[in-house]
Amino acid sequence: MKTEYLSNKPVDIQKAAAILKNGGLVGIPTETVYGLAANALNGAAVAKIFEAKGRPMDNPLIVHIAEYDDIARFELTSDALPELYTLAKNFWPGPLTIIMKKGKAVPDEVTAGLDTVAVRFPSHPVARAVIHAAGLPLAAPSANLSGSPSPTTAQHVLNDMDGRIDAVVDGGSCVVGVESTVITLTTKTPTLLRPGSVTVEQLRRLLGKIEIDDAVLHQLEDGRAAPSPGMKYKHYAPKANVVLLKCGDDEFIEYVNSHGGRGVAALCCDEDIPLLSGVKAISLGKRGDYTEQARNLFDSLRRIDGYGDVMTVYSRLPQTDGVGMAVYNRLTRAAGFEVIDLEAV
Ligand code: AMP
Ligand code: MG
Repeated sequence: MKTEYLSNKPVDIQKAAAILKNGGLVGIPTETVYGLAANALNGAAVAKIFEAKGRPMDNPLIVHIAEYDDIARFELTSDALPELYTLAKNFWPGPLTIIMKKGKAVPDEVTAGLDTVAVRFPSHPVARAVIHAAGLPLAAPSANLSGSPSPTTAQHVLNDMDGRIDAVVDGGSCVVGVESTVITLTTKTPTLLRPGSVTVEQLRRLLGKIEIDDAVLHQLEDGRAAPSPGMKYKHYAPKANVVLLKCGDDEFIEYVNSHGGRGVAALCCDEDIPLLSGVKAISLGKRGDYTEQARNLFDSLRRIDGYGDVMTVYSRLPQTDGVGMAVYNRLTRAAGFEVIDLEAV
């Protein structure tokens, strides 16, 4: 299969829409990461997403819409929860995915057989234009090969998916850089299943009580069923081994400098660059600026693999407040939860 490169011009948006209406697969930009889209109402089209990504069949997809009213129009759910309305009014269009009871129009391929469905209304103008032009809700996971870092440019999508999908629409670099915040309204108390740039603090201000699922900040316990199947898979990992250091700024510099060498890299901050020596250093952004670090995270993980010879990557264990929780969640998974606590020694 030849993968067509499309621009974000109207004529190319129409081409992308035609492919989707025909049951094909198109990589599309969103404000979070690039998505791999198919017609969410067509089970056979959705099944091709799993094949192209090598995604485990039990990991459900997010349905993307371009209007709040699409929920009712496409019968995605029969829920009319007050929390759904409140969240949508405040955060849609935007990087928040809401899980609710599945409506009858949603095929089992989308939800991996669950009786719930994840829905998001993205703010990216190109994503919205493609959904509008297709006149369909689009099922879309991140457009990477399963297990590798999510793509934040059209080139990242091509690196993983060239020859496996029909087309990719280039909408530039993603502004948020990590996947959407996922909250479920199907539990007694609304529960955060994946942190993103919509923060727990923002959600609490709006809804009052929300819970944070244990698997957001910790490794999923053996034998516990994942409330969100994506939680149980190794994710976001470059080929090199990521090791996180729990420590202050000075200790970070000292540790990395004394463990340097040819196959060693540091995923660090701007202020660290002049202080590090003997390692390949890639900055995620300014210290403490987790919005910027989130934006650069996946591109940086891919660049480390681009060096070819990196075996070990050291990075800081992030804080968990604000957008820091999203960076913490992705990095701990990329590291397979390997953390060296320098404060404890
Ligand atoms: P991706 O689009 O690749 O970021 O993956 C979508 C994420 O949403 C995965 O972690 C899924 O497990 C999660 N997800 C999608 N639908 C549901 C659902 N109905 N219930 C719980 N988690 C879901
Ligand atoms: Mg993904």
